[in-house]
Amino acid sequence: MKNYYQKEIETASREEILAIQNEKIVKQVRHVYDHVAYYRKLMDEKGVKPEDIRSVEDIKKLPFLSKADLRDAYPYGLLAKPLSECVRIHSTSGTTGKRVVAFYTQHDIDLWNDCTARAIVAAGGTKEDVVQVCYGYGLFTGGAGLDGGSHKVGCLTLPMSTGSTERQIQFMMDLNATIICCTPSYAAYIGETLAEKGYKPEDNKLRIGIFGAEPWTEEMRRNIQKSLGIKAYDIYGLTETSGPGVAFECEEQHGMHINEDHFYAEIIDPDTGEVLPEGSKGELVFTALDKEAFPLLRYRTKDICVLSREKCSCGRNFVRMSKPMGRSDDMMIIRGVNVFPSQIETVLLNEGYTPNYQILVDRVNNTDTLDINVELSPEHFSDKVSDIQKRERGLETAMRGMLGIGPKVHLVPPKSIQRSEGKAVRVIDKRKLHD
Ligand code: ADP
Ligand code: ZN
Repeated sequence: MKNYYQKEIETASREEILAIQNEKIVKQVRHVYDHVAYYRKLMDEKGVKPEDIRSVEDIKKLPFLSKADLRDAYPYGLLAKPLSECVRIHSTSGTTGKRVVAFYTQHDIDLWNDCTARAIVAAGGTKEDVVQVCYGYGLFTGGAGLDGGSHKVGCLTLPMSTGSTERQIQFMMDLNATIICCTPSYAAYIGETLAEKGYKPEDNKLRIGIFGAEPWTEEMRRNIQKSLGIKAYDIYGLTETSGPGVAFECEEQHGMHINEDHFYAEIIDPDTGEVLPEGSKGELVFTALDKEAFPLLRYRTKDICVLSREKCSCGRNFVRMSKPMGRSDDMMIIRGVNVFPSQIETVLLNEGYTPNYQILVDRVNNTDTLDINVELSPEHFSDKVSDIQKRERGLETAMRGMLGIGPKVHLVPPKSIQRSEGKAVRVIDKRKLHD
């Protein structure tokens, strides 16, 4: 089954995509140079003029932008349109520090909604669906992003926002929601709550989930698919480039297709800034090709992934990005070893635990410590103390195998770790408090 929202562009050949990109980038660089003094200065400092950019091949000559630039230019410094032409503001969720704000013209909103509509249709959504959006509405882009796409597809949209999990479930059941959109951690929580209420996965009408906004593992995907009785799709995006929908999974579920008619992607070495060849793992960098109000060129996402142009059986020729395993910011360096929370999640779910865990990092006597609190499932809670200790040691061994360093695992009572309704906070790094 082949599902497209904008078939012509979604199935365009590589040559056609490249031609579109080349045409757009020339105009975009001129637009930014003429209207964004902040970026004009960066280009001037680098000695690059708009006329030097004749195709996407030349993008590598442009200076990078980083989150620090966005904070520096806060709030209007990167705006490329008069405020009177802007219709919306969104803001990052502030996961990694001071929030940045992004502006949208109506054209930008339409373009963004088209992207999320493509994601919904690629996942199998049609106008017959009832879409429950339980990403946060408001400054966060999740709610508005999926809501806009759902309207474009013509789905009946349930704008629930996050929280009130009881009511989410009531409406899901009473109004026969067929598609659910939220963070994967919230999806897991909803699945857990459904089970507690005595519902079986087949009791609801849900068939598709579209989850993103935070890293999640394949093990987490299986866990959610099972508890909700759905097929779960990944969606990726960030406020700086519009919001969710920059990339989305097709039925193949082998990486997410980047909407390349709107976003040009590069992978760079995060240390040197050098552009890496296809297939290399590195930092993802985006250039917005046709956004008007907040058109970032060469924005460094800090997300680490791999790009692939291998042919996809879905018929799309858009490049695919691998699931980002976490931002460079999420990576913990513990006793000199790089550790990602996603590796810990993989071990826990493989060992039959729930995705309710918390990672505590500290420094004691100049040595880094790694403690992982993991919830026991209710059926294990009654185990003898000696059994629990045995389980803890077992998990520690499995963790050591995956991470290369040995953490201390503490099994804690069911429900003692706070559930997430938005982006889960998995790591508490106390070393930062001492520094
Ligand atoms: P913040 O940067 O404050 O979290 P955003 O809400 O804009 O604000 O979050 C964008 C970031 O969320 C991305 O850069 C990426 O790190 C993460 N993200 C979004 N979607 C996914 C996804 N599907 N998988 C992994 N990480 C994701
Ligand atoms: Zn595909």
